[in-house]
Order: sequence, then C-alpha cells, then structure tokens
Amino acid sequence: MMHQLVFATNNSHKLRELGEILKGEFKLLSLNDISCYEEIPETGDTLEANASQKSFYIWDHFHTDCFSDDSGLEVLVLNNEPGVHSARYAGEGRNSDENVSKLLAEMEGKTNRKACFRCVISLILQGKEYLFEGRVDGEILLQRQGSEGFGYDPVFCPEGYSQSFAEMDALLKNSMSHRGRAVAKLVKFLDEAYPPPTMQQ
Ligand code: IMP
Repeated sequence: MMHQLVFATNNSHKLRELGEILKGEFKLLSLNDISCYEEIPETGDTLEANASQKSFYIWDHFHTDCFSDDSGLEVLVLNNEPGVHSARYAGEGRNSDENVSKLLAEMEGKTNRKACFRCVISLILQGKEYLFEGRVDGEILLQRQGSEGFGYDPVFCPEGYSQSFAEMDALLKNSMSHRGRAVAKLVKFLDEAYPPPTMQQ
C-alpha cells in the first residue's frame, strides 16, 4: 500500500505542487482529507519553531505521518525581519503590496541590501522529527520589478541574476527558490527512507 503523508497546509497551490512531485511514491493528504478544520496555532518566533508547531499539532491530534513548512524573507540590516512576520509585516489584514511598501520604506537609504528567503520543512515520521532547510540569497531592489509570483517577489533579486523573482517564470524561480531547495531535500530523504520496490529476478 502506498505510504500516506499529511501536508499541514491550507494552501492549495502548495498541495498541488507537492502532490505532483511525490506522486507514485506517496499519497499526499490535505488537512481537509483528515477532517482537520481548526486553525493550527503558529505562535513561534522562528521559522523552525512554527514549522515544528504545525507538524506536531497534526501528530498529536491525528497520529499520522505528516510535514509542514514555514517560510519568510530575512533582511540583514533589519535584524532578519520580516522573517516569521513576513505575511503580516504591514499589520494584520494588510496585503502583499502593503508589506512590500513597508519593506521599501524601511530600506530607504540603506546601502547594504542583502537578504535571503528561507524555508523550513518539519517532517514527522512515527513521532520522530526531521528538519530540512532551503535558502536563496539575494538583494532587496530599490523598487518593484515584474508581475509574476507573489509576496516579496517583485523586490527580491537572487544572487547571480539581474531579474527579480517576479520577472522569472515559475520553473526558473522554483529551480533556485528556498521552497524548491527545501522540498528537494525532503524528497531525497523520503526516497532514501522509502526506496521504491525493485523487481526480483
Ligand atoms: P509561507 O510560510 O510559505 O506561507 O510564507 C509566509 C510569507 O513569506 C508569505 O506570505 C510571503 O509574504 C513570504 N514569502 C514566502 N515565500 C515567498 C516567495 O517565494 N516569494 C515571495 N514571498 C514569499
């Protein structure tokens, strides 16, 4: 029987993307599939703490193998803010555009514009946790560029490129993104932990 894994997210885009990558090897279940409709607490002050909190919530309440992710933008001269606060940087109920405006305002006049996106995945197999990190380094641009992607993509330029994430197609962005890198580590680990059956001669 195919091994089942719950992805503790309500983001249908992420679920589809991961379902596609893991298909054939794992049956990926959503929170809806396990009838988890409650708001999972995310009160940690690091990405690691938040990812762990979400996956242990699922393990404690549903006793099933699962993983969750948490990601954010860390800016060196802002003491790694917005970090875990990336989604609500401009305040509760504010949108991405307002978050980007706040970031550009905070960065006004700053010459050191180094930043990174980080993603942490917490996987729980039989009650034991494994953490995977993906990161991409780059710089905060002086103004928005491009209209693809989401969040801070228009103002983040990855190292070695002259375009922002919002000027790249999804394939190029995913090939170097924090989430892409963390997911690649997760998939490699799962492939090694659950090798596909080999044909006996
Ligand atoms: P999440 O943990 O993946 O939901 O990300 C939290 C927040 O970090 C998002 O709401 C965005 O503001 C920001 N973020 C995470 N990943 C990206 C990305 O790939 N591009 C732009 N913003 C991102």
